[in-house]
Amino acid sequence: MASMRDHIVRLGWRFPGARVVSSRLPAALLYHGVPALERETGLSRDVFDRHVGFLKEHFELVAPEAADDPRRASDRIRVILTFDDGFRNNAEVVAPVLRSHGVPAVFFVSTRHSAPGKYLWFAYLSALRRSFRGESITFRAETIDMTPERRGASIARLRETLNALEPYPEGMYRAIEEELPALEEFTAERESLDLWAGMSADQVAGLDQDELFTVGAHTVDHPFLTKCDRDEIAKQIGEGKRWIEEATGHACDTFAYPAGDYDTRVIEECRRQGFRTAFAVAPRLRRDDLFERPRVGVYARSVEALGFKVQWGTFMRRVGLKVG
Ligand SMILES: [Zn+2]
Repeated sequence: MASMRDHIVRLGWRFPGARVVSSRLPAALLYHGVPALERETGLSRDVFDRHVGFLKEHFELVAPEAADDPRRASDRIRVILTFDDGFRNNAEVVAPVLRSHGVPAVFFVSTRHSAPGKYLWFAYLSALRRSFRGESITFRAETIDMTPERRGASIARLRETLNALEPYPEGMYRAIEEELPALEEFTAERESLDLWAGMSADQVAGLDQDELFTVGAHTVDHPFLTKCDRDEIAKQIGEGKRWIEEATGHACDTFAYPAGDYDTRVIEECRRQGFRTAFAVAPRLRRDDLFERPRVGVYARSVEALGFKVQWGTFMRRVGLKVG
């Protein structure tokens, strides 16, 4: 049976006055990886293709350069599509779908996983949770319970432990790469390419050469930037930027904060390194529009929920409601 919330969502996005009261600026949607294959939960190529078809039918999809162009009240609501992290499926699944619809997008790429066998820390933990076959893992003389009943809680605790290792985030990656089971040992290659691997430099360059697409920076290692000291913030932002500029052959001036995590030090560093703008999720400081562009995350398959987020996401956040 559909819940009250489902009914509100279903009616809410069809409400005819929505385009009049909804924000005049484009709504930015935040996607991450979109694997080719259908799995138990989450997005897949077919679901994503339906999303793009739905968005095209009801809204106007625009390039990120239009982020500050207000529409007239009677015009269709505008939408900017953004994709974070730089998973390989962005080049192999997302880009072909977007091309087939002629839809623009911006891809924010973390560079660490561009090398084969390297994974972003949270992708590694998701893979471990999903595919590890075994009852336990020993890590630093402690036993991690990986039985089905305890696995979720164990991975959550491991996540905390890893994120507390010094120096951050290098200590965390050293532990993953040297002390925990290698992802290749418990995940089939086809699966790791579809779900966990990053884009190569050639794939990033290929996206950049398409006039529909923009490539932005998303640090090297996808750390929580507010957990980093000043030098580490500068290194994460600068090295990620330079890697992308080398891959594409031109300046990179758009940034997205990993996990939407930033503070004034992070914004300052982005400006210092020549970024023109940065995308957040929920604006935290609300004093720098150019460097705190709000976005709404898309995780569910439903197109009704998607329509609701586009029309009401910005409004709900402004009045302090959680958008998800
Ligand atoms: Zn990210």
